[in-house]
Amino acid sequence: MPTAKLRVAICGGGIGGLALAVALSKYSDIQVDVYEAAGQFKEIGAGVMMWERTWKILDQLGLSEDLSKAADTPPNGFPGIGFDFRRADRETGFQFHMYNPPYGCIRFHRAHFLDVFVNHLPSGVAHFGKRLLSYEDRHSNSQVILKFADGSQGTCDLLVGCDGLKSTVRKQMYDQAPFKEPTLKIVAEPIWSGWVTYRALVPADRVRQANGGKETRTTTTPMMYCGKSKHIVSYPIFQGRIVNVVGLVFYPEGEGKTFDGPWVTECDGAEVIKHYVGWEQEVQDLLRHVDKAMLWAVHSLRPLPMYTSGRVALLGDAAHAMTPHQGAGAGQAIEDAYILAALLGEPSITALNLWKALSAYESIRLPFANRVLRESAVSGKMYEFNSIFQDNYTSLGPAIDAQWSWLWESTPEEEVERALKRMRGLGVKHKL
Ligand SMILES: Cc1cc2nc3c(=O)[nH]c(=O)nc-3n(C[C@H](O)[C@H](O)[C@H](O)COP(=O)(O)OP(=O)(O)OC[C@H]3O[C@@H](n4cnc5c(N)ncnc54)[C@H](O)[C@@H]3O)c2cc1C
Repeated sequence: MPTAKLRVAICGGGIGGLALAVALSKYSDIQVDVYEAAGQFKEIGAGVMMWERTWKILDQLGLSEDLSKAADTPPNGFPGIGFDFRRADRETGFQFHMYNPPYGCIRFHRAHFLDVFVNHLPSGVAHFGKRLLSYEDRHSNSQVILKFADGSQGTCDLLVGCDGLKSTVRKQMYDQAPFKEPTLKIVAEPIWSGWVTYRALVPADRVRQANGGKETRTTTTPMMYCGKSKHIVSYPIFQGRIVNVVGLVFYPEGEGKTFDGPWVTECDGAEVIKHYVGWEQEVQDLLRHVDKAMLWAVHSLRPLPMYTSGRVALLGDAAHAMTPHQGAGAGQAIEDAYILAALLGEPSITALNLWKALSAYESIRLPFANRVLRESAVSGKMYEFNSIFQDNYTSLGPAIDAQWSWLWESTPEEEVERALKRMRGLGVKHKL
């Protein structure tokens, strides 16, 4: 691309990196390269859910038609079930709350979700087997040098670290940050949330067959089975063919600590079931079909004080890896991408005044995503009766909904407008 005004290198081709690549590919004067460590784009075998807010961004990016085909139930504009909350850690469970937001909970198989992004990537953008080891942000000649594990190098005007929870880009950015307070550097290290999750996919037909061929709540509805210091999220994906099951167990003594052991391992179904002995029958009826599961020690970041430095920015989990309790991490990565692309796409932004776009990106996205990160952790405690509301169902239900209020307080389009306004209001000082 001989006339590119800006060369953007995206480190990492997960949901965040690919969302940014697709969003930037709308601008013919921006060159985009995605450097992915793996040999192909891939997602883990599990489900992922979105809310209306993210769906509207995906629509703006031109992906909603293809995503509608991949969704379990494509959104139709009407309120749907977000989650059906049940007190489930007893023989006779009961519903204590129903969350019914516009569009409900929009659900996908992760691989199908990622495929839609991959199919919308322009050719020549993806580079596989490119594990970034380090970068040099050369202030004097306005470019960033990228150094990969295979010995090769690349250059760009802007490096965006979309390399997930254990981000190499974040580590270097924080290691080199001119913090007066050296302990701030450790703020960039992931911490164990205290939760472990058991993630499994169950063939929905097995659940139906065991129920005399009839549908059950778990084969039709996004469910939140709540118990003291444990809960289970389940929802159907793949047009009702699979039930995505996520069992969560909270170890309060581990919160904020380092997890002792591998963060991800495999286990069999019996290991999952043993945590939910005595729970209501429909939970047992679901879990008995879990043959194996992935056991994850859920790590997150503390709210970071910066998402950008020089010609380098962080996006998605690299910037704000959060607990999964609001189904928001991927959606927030997509929102980062949407806003950053709109800023970089402004005709006035070039490699020379890039700092304006990065400054506006950080000022809009950092407080927003850090808030979601914080509130997600609180939501997890609410689902397990460990919040200030304990098991006072009358106040707990509305409090759970209120945790999601960030979904509706503004629209992504308004956030873009705010970011553009902020950027246009910045002076001429060259900060990089
Ligand atoms: C149990 C659980 C359930 C969840 N459910 C939901 C949900 O329902 N809805 C939702 O919105 N969010 C959910 N999330 C969060 C969501 O999965 C993440 O926020 C999202 O996938 C992050 O995407 P990302 O692209 O930022 O990072 P990642 O998906 O981690 O992608 C990072 C990419 O970078 C690559 N990479 C890493 N290091 C390098 C390097 N040095 N050089 C080059 N490439 C590199 C990796 O190979 C990978 O492809 C959940 C999380 C968990 C743990």
